[in-house]
Amino acid sequence: MCCAGCQAVAQAIVGNGLGDYYRHRDAFPESPREALPQVLADLALFDLPDVQKNFVRRARVPPASANRKRR
Ligand SMILES: [Zn+2]
Repeated sequence: MCCAGCQAVAQAIVGNGLGDYYRHRDAFPESPREALPQVLADLALFDLPDVQKNFVRRARVPPASANRKRR
């Protein structure tokens, strides 16, 4: 195993009686190290102001002086 994470997943697969997964798979899964950069690149879309304007709102926080006037 390359790491404790893969070992834990393998133990979960075999421990739940799903060991056939290893018999029937025809390719190794894509490495998380290879997949992660594309995932991050996709998520970067949510940093664009044009995308954010559809679901991001600025909270209206009263200035600190507004609270003092009420007392
Ligand atoms: Zn691993």
